[in-house]
Amino acid sequence: MRWLPLIWLLIPLAAHAEGPVRLDVAASAIAADRKDLTITLRLDAPAPYRVFLLDAPKRLVIDMEGLDLAGADAARIPGAAAMEAVRAGPFRPGWGRLVFQLRAPYAVIEAVQQTAGQGATLRLRLSPVAAEDFAGAPNAMSALWDLPQPTTPVVDPSRPQPLRVAIDPGHGGIDSGALAEGLREADLMLAFARELTEKLIRAGFEVVLTRRKDEFVGLEARMTEARASGADLFISLHADALPDGQAAGASVFIWNSQADDRASRQLAARHDRADLVAGLDLQGTDDQIAGTLMDMARADTQPRSEAFAKHMSAHLAQAGLALHRNPVKGAAFSVLKSPDIPSTLVELGFLTDASDRANLTDPAWRARMAQAIAGAVTDWSKDDSARAALRRH
Ligand SMILES: [Zn+2]
Repeated sequence: MRWLPLIWLLIPLAAHAEGPVRLDVAASAIAADRKDLTITLRLDAPAPYRVFLLDAPKRLVIDMEGLDLAGADAARIPGAAAMEAVRAGPFRPGWGRLVFQLRAPYAVIEAVQQTAGQGATLRLRLSPVAAEDFAGAPNAMSALWDLPQPTTPVVDPSRPQPLRVAIDPGHGGIDSGALAEGLREADLMLAFARELTEKLIRAGFEVVLTRRKDEFVGLEARMTEARASGADLFISLHADALPDGQAAGASVFIWNSQADDRASRQLAARHDRADLVAGLDLQGTDDQIAGTLMDMARADTQPRSEAFAKHMSAHLAQAGLALHRNPVKGAAFSVLKSPDIPSTLVELGFLTDASDRANLTDPAWRARMAQAIAGAVTDWSKDDSARAALRRH
């Protein structure tokens, strides 16, 4: 049997989410037919939607544009007892979400939305699969699709959790990064990542490394690792090469798809090329709606990334470390695309620059750099938790 991929987006031709779309709970149903499950949702209008599976616990999630779930108790859909739980709630502005917690691993084998009179019916068929065939592995995109917050906090709020920082040593394995005078960017960044980890742990943070040895890790896998480990902040470490002495000194980059700085474009192309060289397909992971959703999610995250970048450049300047003349820049680095983890990429220096090379191989300089980054994380985390209170309005 072939089943449908993890995530897909379906927009019926007639769909237009102009007004709110309502779910008729009483006319909807969950039916067990031998081993299969059929979910039928009765809607008052057709609408774009997406379906995907999440693991731990196993869930089927339906997001629908314009779906207004006010007054609709999805747990009362007839047949809901076939599920471990059924929940519903608003997702992003203008979208509603239904979450079906599964009792066993299933694959979605059919998803059909049909108009019926004034309304529409969305029908999904699920077939049981072996646990190892369950296609709900977490991925970078699942950032967008976290469940609505549980009403009971899982964590004791009187004991604040330490901030968890994902450190991403650039390149590795087949992708050596920049090369100069016998130095490999990949090696330098892994060594520096270990030094930085020690400083961060001493400063009271938890650290996750996206790469622990000299191995190739794709850009998306780096974000996935950060996400899967619940990172609060993502810092990618690089010391790239730019031709003709175009760059010297440290720079801090944040996501900007519109960046038109020539050096930034060259660097972004270099980084993405590494994935292509290693045979990873960068296409097909985004679609238009997903792109829109990513932008919406990023709208919350981007100011937090910017704030961290500012703390970084301030701390680097305070420590007297060589900074690029324009130290905080936007760039379309794929690794900064996580929609909900504030992310920055630091070029500690450029391997093409002789004095940067001397710094990067100087343990005393590296210790100052690591200390400055740890200081920036400390200040940012205080700032960010103060702002979090405001964000939660
Ligand atoms: Zn690099």
